[in-house]
Amino acid sequence: MGERKMLIDGRLTDGSGGRTFDNINPATEQVLGPVADGTAADMHEAIAAARRAFDTTDWSTNHEFRQTCLRQLQAALESEREDLRAELVAEVGCPVLSTYGPQLDAPLREALTWPADMIDTFAWKRTLEPKDAFGMGVFTDREVWKEPIGVVGVIVPWNFPMEIILNKLGPVLAMGNTCVLKPAPDTPWNATRLGRLIAEKTDIPPGVVNIVLASDHLVGEVLTTSPLVDLVAFTGSTATGRRIMAAASKTLKPVFLELGGKSVNLVLDDADLATTIPSAAGVCFHAGQGCAMATRLLVPMSRYDEAVELALMGFKGVTYGDPTDMSNLMGPLVSKRQQQRVLGYIEQGKAEGARLMCGGGVPSHLPVGYYVEPTLFANVDNSMTIAREEIFGPVLVIIGFTDDDDAVRIANDSPYGLSGVITSGDLERAKGIARRIRTGTLGLNGGNWYGADAPFGGYKQSGIGRQCGLEGLEIFTETKTVGWPSA
Ligand code: NAD
Repeated sequence: MGERKMLIDGRLTDGSGGRTFDNINPATEQVLGPVADGTAADMHEAIAAARRAFDTTDWSTNHEFRQTCLRQLQAALESEREDLRAELVAEVGCPVLSTYGPQLDAPLREALTWPADMIDTFAWKRTLEPKDAFGMGVFTDREVWKEPIGVVGVIVPWNFPMEIILNKLGPVLAMGNTCVLKPAPDTPWNATRLGRLIAEKTDIPPGVVNIVLASDHLVGEVLTTSPLVDLVAFTGSTATGRRIMAAASKTLKPVFLELGGKSVNLVLDDADLATTIPSAAGVCFHAGQGCAMATRLLVPMSRYDEAVELALMGFKGVTYGDPTDMSNLMGPLVSKRQQQRVLGYIEQGKAEGARLMCGGGVPSHLPVGYYVEPTLFANVDNSMTIAREEIFGPVLVIIGFTDDDDAVRIANDSPYGLSGVITSGDLERAKGIARRIRTGTLGLNGGNWYGADAPFGGYKQSGIGRQCGLEGLEIFTETKTVGWPSA
């Protein structure tokens, strides 16, 4: 049974309303158990606690203590790693295989420890040249100080919940901020477990991390409007990101947004299609519920039919079903709502004239659970809805291009710009194309850019700001410039 209670001001609590909502297993449709259903009043209390902890304790200035706390939290998570793994599979419906990589083990290795280590080397201060700014013979010594931004509202989705939480919490806390975390209602237990571990196994002071669960998304909106919150760090859909940005504008609060994507898997004409194309079926991993997945496969028009056959071969090899089975690449969608949304896109693809090569429905052998078959569309034009909108399901579209310029044009003809993949027989050629694609991350010839030290985020409507890396630390800081008469 997972943890029911939220964390507010250092206390594990059921919240002011005393209500709960159910955590559902998307593979079995069974209720896993209850979780506290927070209210706007709980959110206000949590924000006030975070404000107090920032304004009245030495959390924001005590570097060594913060390092100790982050390492304690890392050890606490490690101590319950296997329970956390099982819980993630149960509430997210993610294949257990994914928990040995991006879903759990990869972030657990470094998402807290890399920022903790960086506290020692981060450029908290830089010295400017002494200057006679107004030419009056008065020289001034000057420094630029980096300081924590204050109270951060952290709002996260359900697809890689622990990965996203840790990659936000690490930098937020390392930089000296306090926060209120609002997890997605679909996947509450990994966050409530984190709250219990913070309360029971770390010296993180009350109010530094608050975790408020709510079945009502609008409880999260309080974070975007409260004058006590200094920045909102959000990962989720572009539609919600837009709404958050609008709400935050009333208090001129900066927003850090990690949003959706419609990334390309671009296979150039000198690539070995036979070894490259089948792996495009990797979009089915975790039922396609990844923002950075390369869901538009761009192939040379001259070899289009061959590419479609190879992609189909890849799709036939996708294993799916029970997410606790190590041999499965994909489990169910996270909810009935997501399943219906994905099926709706598939119908739209058919209606707009794309050619359905495989899948397209609910698998008949999996009547229970929110499953959708691995689905491949050919004869897709980049103007079709299934090529433009983020489906967030196990669906790949194949688009042909005439030459490199055409491929770059199609890749960039998207409101999104989050990630992508390029394969070429010539790495320098792949790099040349990479420079022309307006997107925040790119994997070249099978390479992987991911890591706590690697900035991740989007161009265009895929977001504002970067998570992880130096940029992901700086985003949680303010800049103060000071000057005094030179000696
Ligand atoms: P969502 O936007 O519906 O919800 C995300 C979070 O925002 C949830 O916690 C939700 O409760 C909260 N929320 C909803 N409305 C809100 C409001 N008005 N004010 C404040 N908070 C609000 O997204 P989702 O369906 O949970 O997740 C899927 C989306 O997340 C996809 O579009 C995916 O691309 C995106 N995503 C992006 C990244 C990235 O790093 N770019 C990573 C993972 C997921």
